[in-house]
Amino acid sequence: MEHEMDALHRPGAATGEETLDPTDWAVLGALSHRIVDDAIGFLRDVRERPVWRDMPAEVRTFFDTALPRSPAPLGEVYRQVTENVMSYPMGNIHPRFWSWYMGSSNFTGALADFLAAIQGSNLGGGNHAAALLDAQVVNWLKEMVGFPASASGTLVSGGSMANLIGLTVARNVKAGVDVREHGVAAIDKPLRFYASDQVHSCHRKALEELGLGNRALRRIPSDAGFRMDVAALAAAIAQDRAAGFLPACIIANAGTVNTGAIDDLSAIGDLAAEEDIWFHVDGCIGALIAIAPENALRVDGIGRADSLALDPHKWLHAPFEVGCALIRDPSAHHAAFAVTSEYLEATSRGLAAAAWLHEYGLQTTRGFRALKVWMALKEHGAEKFGRLIDQNIAQARYLTTLIEAEPLLELAAPTTINIVCFRYRAKGVEAEALKAINTEIMLRLQEEGTAAISDTTVHGEHCLRVAITNHRTHRDDLFLLVEETVRLGNEIAGS
Ligand SMILES: *Cc1c(COP(=O)(O)O)cnc(C)c1O
Repeated sequence: MEHEMDALHRPGAATGEETLDPTDWAVLGALSHRIVDDAIGFLRDVRERPVWRDMPAEVRTFFDTALPRSPAPLGEVYRQVTENVMSYPMGNIHPRFWSWYMGSSNFTGALADFLAAIQGSNLGGGNHAAALLDAQVVNWLKEMVGFPASASGTLVSGGSMANLIGLTVARNVKAGVDVREHGVAAIDKPLRFYASDQVHSCHRKALEELGLGNRALRRIPSDAGFRMDVAALAAAIAQDRAAGFLPACIIANAGTVNTGAIDDLSAIGDLAAEEDIWFHVDGCIGALIAIAPENALRVDGIGRADSLALDPHKWLHAPFEVGCALIRDPSAHHAAFAVTSEYLEATSRGLAAAAWLHEYGLQTTRGFRALKVWMALKEHGAEKFGRLIDQNIAQARYLTTLIEAEPLLELAAPTTINIVCFRYRAKGVEAEALKAINTEIMLRLQEEGTAAISDTTVHGEHCLRVAITNHRTHRDDLFLLVEETVRLGNEIAGS
């Protein structure tokens, strides 16, 4: 028998088996060093480049090229990436990018993503260092926002998924039936969730995915400061109870996406407790203000939430993607997602002797997204991230002051944190025409490469919107934005 097996043995490389590893590691090393040098230059000189530029036709057609079936030298592949991809970025690492809402990344985080990919670990679970580090980052985030150490949490792809995780636990806890076993059709009274009319669209999608439907998310009017009207919320809950609904969950905003408004978290938390309703906070924008010494008071009460979504790829500037869901009751969290499959049983020793992280969310395979948060926090310390948040809020206040001092501009909403809503105003121009002028200003700022800002409509009125989640912005940049907005506005309105 043994003899037969020996006859089947083929030594090492003699079999002609293929691998993705290089034939010459030294050549790979030289190219890799060049890529790192280029990357450092790319980031160092970002200010010298336009924020954004549109792709010429020949670059667009590059993305129609056929499936490569045979090899090309890696150096040639890299050249194609440099020319066609690296040259046309979204621009959110640029000091004058303030569109929508996103962080501006950092080099250490990029190194971490590289190392994570090199190690290649799967954080679905297992007894290995990356899994422990992932849990440590969740613990640090709990501490940063004032959640108890006993709470549980999970890193996910971003805020949308983090909110979905929180709302799923809320639904399962409040449904009154075993939703996982019997489905939403078994729920006795229709569940109601509540949020202000400023709530992010991911909550609508979450309610749809949860099988409750968009109408189960009742929008409560917001006040002049774009905060949820708590009296209207209480009235809606009473009305729903009387009509036979089951009020299940209140979603409070710690920083709305339109204007940065922060709901009255303490009052809403009190009401949720009195009414025995799940208290979820969407803190994708503002949860981390808890570490900013000058502004932390604004999110007082956030640590009381039953569940909280936050987004390290926003104000911690982690490279995309990383979000985090925190759940106060760890057993409710586990009960919402755990399934022990016969092929994923834990053992007392060895590789499977650990908590399965996939039992706290929807993914099975999970990437090592924790490392980019961990390395940047270790390098800079949490206090510096807190100061950077304060800095962005102070910059938004500075921009607000510039707008107030400029007769051709007006604020469209009060500035609370780092989001400024404003518009160019032209005498005797009605709303439609004003929207066209402001949209044109926004597009020219983008196309000229000066600044990337976005627009929105708040309480029925169109405006330009600047969201400063950017550790590279200087006040000079905001001064330039105001000058250029006025110049373009005059040019467009005059023509
Ligand atoms: C960004 C954001 C989200 C969605 O988070 P993603 O990371 O983009 O998935 C949800 N809510 C608010 C308030 C946000 O600002």
